[in-house]
Amino acid sequence: MKIAVLPGDGIGTEIVAEAIKVLRAMDLGLEMESAMVGGAAYEAYGHPLPDATLRLAKEADAVLFGAVGDWKYDKLERALRPEQAILGLRKNLGLFANLRPAICYEQLVDASSLKPELVAGLDILIIRELTGDIYFGQPRGRRTAVDGHFPGSEEAFDTMRYSRPEIERIAHVAFQAARKRNKRVTSVDKANVLETFQLWKDVVTEVSAQYPDVALDHMYVDNAAMQLVKAPKKFDVVVTGNMFGDILSDEASMLTGSIGMLPSASLSASRQGLYEPSHGSAPDIAGQGIANPLATILSAAMMLRFSLNQEAQAARIEQAVKAVLAQGLRTADIHSLGTTRVSTREMGDAVVRSLK
Ligand code: NAD
Repeated sequence: MKIAVLPGDGIGTEIVAEAIKVLRAMDLGLEMESAMVGGAAYEAYGHPLPDATLRLAKEADAVLFGAVGDWKYDKLERALRPEQAILGLRKNLGLFANLRPAICYEQLVDASSLKPELVAGLDILIIRELTGDIYFGQPRGRRTAVDGHFPGSEEAFDTMRYSRPEIERIAHVAFQAARKRNKRVTSVDKANVLETFQLWKDVVTEVSAQYPDVALDHMYVDNAAMQLVKAPKKFDVVVTGNMFGDILSDEASMLTGSIGMLPSASLSASRQGLYEPSHGSAPDIAGQGIANPLATILSAAMMLRFSLNQEAQAARIEQAVKAVLAQGLRTADIHSLGTTRVSTREMGDAVVRSLK
């Protein structure tokens, strides 16, 4: 089993090092090979996703990814910005389904910005379509507006699009996931305003006929954003498009206490997958040894579960993380009175000890 390890930028290198430490301690015979990606790759090779990195990712059974990006690249032309690397990997590996479980661990109930009774026991799964929507439409950079309301002024636009097969396959992922959970799917759209999401809603409804044992409801994205903080436990599986999923899953992360707790899996039809924390490269705290590595360690658990078919080993990591939290160990982002503050590395070491 071959793993491509792409740490990337900022805290990416720090948190991936801890996930690797955990995987190595489990002695699973994994072959791990690292390559540069994002800003680091741009500095070294002039491109955020060099051919050699893409080749390594394609040949691997799974990719363990850190994060990319730094504000210092904001002035670069878009095609060379670090974030293009993750979009390129998603497109080239056909990673259309992004699974983001938002679980509020009992020990972190107080770290959430919501009242404990709203988040205690929370376990929802956000499924975000990852290779369509406005992020993969046709961008049109700034130009002089030709038919704008303000003649002579500038305009820019991006096109939002989805095709029937793209919606069908993500809907199947959602219904199948719901079957293994509480058998409820909420499809989030904006069908009242956008044609793209009218198609989305119609197709999801059609696919639901194949899953009579799963309940489906539809919700507009603005309402979903509100319901997620009003009564998050009412959700089971949430399925939505690329942009709405991007925003809602970050919102959901705060329910769990910190974005540093939220893992993710991005899967292709062949179950090859890319596993990464839901957060970015956090340049504001990079290099300080204070980043929370648990989202990345939990992403490694998802990798064992979904791409390497090692359910028992995945559960072992998740149990070890729970045990470490129960011991009261916390990185700065989830630290509260009465708990012990630890560094990124100390958190990784504690998970390894707990595994053993
Ligand atoms: P971010 O997720 O990097 O950070 C948001 C906030 O959360 C920051 O205050 C940060 O310190 C904190 N945070 C994030 N991860 C943490 C962790 N593990 N432990 C503790 N605190 C953590 O988002 P941003 O600041 O909007 O973006 C920074 C850079 O990351 C940008 O260049 C952006 O494009 C990029 N980004 C990359 C990805 C990716 O690689 N998949 C995803 C999102 C953002």
